[in-house]
Amino acid sequence: MNKKQKRNLIRIIISTVLFVILYLIPTTGVLRETLFIIPYLIIGYDILINTVYGIKNGRPFDENCLMTVATIGAFIIGEYIESVAVMLFYQIGELFQSFAVRRSRNEIKKLLDIRPDKAVLMTADGEKEIFPEEVKIGDILIVKVGEKVPVDGVIIEGSSSVDLSLLTGESVPLKKSIGDEVLSGTVNKDGVILVRAEKEFSVSTANKITELIENASAKKAKSENFIKKFALIYTPTVVGLAFIIAVIFPLGSIILGIYTQWNVWIYRALSFLVISCPCALVISVPLSFFCGLGGASRKGVLIKGADYLERLAKTKYVLLDKTGTLTEGNFTAIGVHHNKIEENEILKYASFAESFSTHPIAESVKRAYGKEIDRSRVKNVKEYAGKGVYAEIDGEQILVGNDKLMLENGVLFIECKSVGTVLHVAKNKEYLGHILIGDKVKAESKTAVENLKRLGIKVKMLTGDGDKIAKEVGDKLNITEVYSKLLPNDKLKIEEEIINNKEKGEVMFVGDGINDAPSITRADVGVAMGGVGSSSSIEVADVVIMDDNPIKLSTAISHAKRTLRIVYENILFALAIKIAFIILGTFGLINMWMAVFADVGVMVIAVLNATRALKVKGEKYERTVSLQ
Ligand code: ADP
Ligand code: MG
Repeated sequence: MNKKQKRNLIRIIISTVLFVILYLIPTTGVLRETLFIIPYLIIGYDILINTVYGIKNGRPFDENCLMTVATIGAFIIGEYIESVAVMLFYQIGELFQSFAVRRSRNEIKKLLDIRPDKAVLMTADGEKEIFPEEVKIGDILIVKVGEKVPVDGVIIEGSSSVDLSLLTGESVPLKKSIGDEVLSGTVNKDGVILVRAEKEFSVSTANKITELIENASAKKAKSENFIKKFALIYTPTVVGLAFIIAVIFPLGSIILGIYTQWNVWIYRALSFLVISCPCALVISVPLSFFCGLGGASRKGVLIKGADYLERLAKTKYVLLDKTGTLTEGNFTAIGVHHNKIEENEILKYASFAESFSTHPIAESVKRAYGKEIDRSRVKNVKEYAGKGVYAEIDGEQILVGNDKLMLENGVLFIECKSVGTVLHVAKNKEYLGHILIGDKVKAESKTAVENLKRLGIKVKMLTGDGDKIAKEVGDKLNITEVYSKLLPNDKLKIEEEIINNKEKGEVMFVGDGINDAPSITRADVGVAMGGVGSSSSIEVADVVIMDDNPIKLSTAISHAKRTLRIVYENILFALAIKIAFIILGTFGLINMWMAVFADVGVMVIAVLNATRALKVKGEKYERTVSLQ
């Protein structure tokens, strides 16, 4: 309980006790009414003050105003006991609601716990504690057991296992040793490690993700804005209707010659005001979205705003990139087929030419070569997305890439019969041979595709890789619509066609962030795989799957659907109860007590319902991939 909640609880207790005592003391008339003003002011002073502020700031029609008009009106017509009771109930409801909101905020705050709060610098005179923001690239930091890695870096001494669960929801720690990259926000589980800072704090993973989560809740969904606008029209309308009930109805009945007591109508109008309070909607809808986003991030799915939750829920087409999305993106050289030179020579040329590339293919070639690369010998590097690279090595022109690149440069190449990704290598336009590399389909990909289909979604695969390998992967995963040999631009064209011809629903594009930025940006919902580590993909995508697990695509869609269902439940439930009570109230079938009880009840239930969105249901997250 925070200070404000404690103060309100004390106010509630004091005024309840006072209320009961005054009720029991046998006073009558004006004295009794005057005495009841005391508990009224104790419990309601802030509402009165807020009403005055509201009017001053040009927002006269809010729930404070409704409560003020209703309770003061009740006093005037002599229903002072009910007036105090109404205020009491209202405040009890507010207290409950603040508990629920606080709970969910705390849950979300826990997510932001990835932000490290210190870094320990190794200096000539020993360890020195500094803020993560003060770390410079190249600094040597010591990270002890149980501490968070302050900035992204590389281990230069020691080994340990690190826990990525704060970033990805993945609970199995990963072994890391000298030369491995460690990300800020991960927790060192055992063993002391020395880390060389590779990035400053502001561009490190932990800070990027924290910023992302913070910004996400600021982006409003359509239904959220709708509720805001709705409240703007709703409250004045309600006040107008109350006026009609209080004045026009009795006037009308007098004209018609039917005798009614004016006070009865005023009382009905006031109950009407109490019941029409829109707080349940105004509070629970944004809260539902907020909890939905929070719940998803706890499972390692970062959704960049409530509007994307809405679009996710409507996804009908999922276009998947192959490399890095459905496959590990972890190529291994299967074989080197060559003309006349040493196998190692081909690998050497290829890895020198690829030395500046971060493409998974480049990484694997360098790994297969396994030796130091002197980058000063590599000049004029050009990377052609979806084709390969060109570089000059010791003055020789080297081309490394697929059929397309060779054709374009007039290199006569030999076609490869085996299934796999083929990497041709040419020197001065003369064909040297090719490296056949293989990638593994992720263990979760098959289930991921099945889950998507079960949700009634059309799944297509788009890849820049060759026909044979594309078909093989498609067959393995039961994807019938496979498009291959695509340049990033072709992917975009196919995507646009699908977007333009779609019958209904939204189009999602899922890529690993390399070469796929245009398609991710163009999609209704752009999803980047493996946000951890690759910061560029975090920026362009609407949704980031932190670990590479494609099963989380269907999880995210189901979760979005569930969150929206909760939002609609709240809207419908609140409106239905209100309308029912408004009708009953107009005919004098309920009193003000019941009205406020219904209002507070609806609000508490709606808020509790909203917090259900914090939980992500369904799927299993166990990773079955063998980590190499
Ligand atoms: P995907 O669509 O499967 O993710 P990309 O668009 O990243 O694939 O690349 C498509 C193809 O372009 C690769 O299969 C490869 O043949 C070629 N390619 C792209 N980048 C490189 C590179 N750096 N070196 C060699 N070949 C590359
Ligand atoms: Mg790719």
